[in-house]
Amino acid sequence: MNPENALNVCVIPGDDAAPEAMAATLRVLKFLDVPITWDCLPTGTELLKLDAADREKFVTERIDKASTVLFGASDGTTPGASYLRWGKSTYANVRPIKWLPGFNSPLRRPEGIDYVIVRENLEDMYVGIMGPASKLLDANLVDPRSHVPKDAAEGRFAAKIITRSGTERVTRFACELATQRRNKITVSAKTNMLPATDKWFCEIAKEIVQEYPHLHYEEFIVDDLAHRLVMRPQDLDVLLLPNLYGDILSDQGAATIGGLGLAPSGCYGEDFAYFEPSHGTAPDISGLGVINPTATLMSAILMFRHVGLSSAADQLGKAIKRVYTIAEQLTQDQGGTSTTEEFADAVIGEL
Ligand code: ATP
Repeated sequence: MNPENALNVCVIPGDDAAPEAMAATLRVLKFLDVPITWDCLPTGTELLKLDAADREKFVTERIDKASTVLFGASDGTTPGASYLRWGKSTYANVRPIKWLPGFNSPLRRPEGIDYVIVRENLEDMYVGIMGPASKLLDANLVDPRSHVPKDAAEGRFAAKIITRSGTERVTRFACELATQRRNKITVSAKTNMLPATDKWFCEIAKEIVQEYPHLHYEEFIVDDLAHRLVMRPQDLDVLLLPNLYGDILSDQGAATIGGLGLAPSGCYGEDFAYFEPSHGTAPDISGLGVINPTATLMSAILMFRHVGLSSAADQLGKAIKRVYTIAEQLTQDQGGTSTTEEFADAVIGEL
């Protein structure tokens, strides 16, 4: 590899158990012949030695120098998560849910589960507008037909915001993805109870999907979709959801294939993308060396595809598949007894 032509990938290990998954992942990735220089940041605990403002600056500067980022997970100690999302406008969070032989699914028949959740990543309840409900009442924003509780003034509120441009943008992204897959898109929200936001989200999505006449459009209320993820997951292909439902249902989807340890993700904007497992920092297993690094490894596969390194992506995908098919070196969440590093050794053995 000529280092001058190498891509600069910033690796942010994160907090709690996430750095353990990232260390194992990096050990595997370094076995692949890829033109990448890995810019590895310290863990959250090590970053705590810097004061808060320096910490933020240190991480954002390294992100800005990178072609892309592989992120572990942060409990808020490692900065950068907000910057990667809102600072870099990564509006589409793509979360593939695919069962492979050897994945410890609780379903009787997980064969054929293979769909992708596209979650709008910047709007909805995540805009951070919340506070005492009295403020909302005082601002005269409450419709007389709404069911305001008697003691609402002592309560609190949180607001969701959906925009036309944000919805159009993420729908187009989902349509492009559906075009590369099985030409079907399933859109979902709480349309019956929340017409102002959720029904509108689906109406806008439907309008955009009509620009892609080869796509089949289907729509379910989000509770119906939650049921379908368990009862008929094989019917699904590309799902488009507002932020909060996408977050919740992707954890549910991960559970149907065998858990959060198996669920990768990528967050895409117009000119930047970064990659991270769907799971959080798994604080309950921190320091035990047992976190399953599969979700982080598979996030690296999405990253390789994004930067055009598809043969490395295929090679790594095949190695992981083999380890699960042989099923002798699996981590505890998959019914095995191997540690994080032993699992990584098994993947390296297949490369
Ligand atoms: P966040 O809100 O940050 O997404 P979370 O509340 O969803 O986090 P997680 O950190 O994802 O919580 O963990 C949920 C559960 O799943 C925990 O019991 C954790 O140990 C387990 N878990 C998460 N990721 C993994 C993994 N890679 N391997 C094994 N277990 C995991």
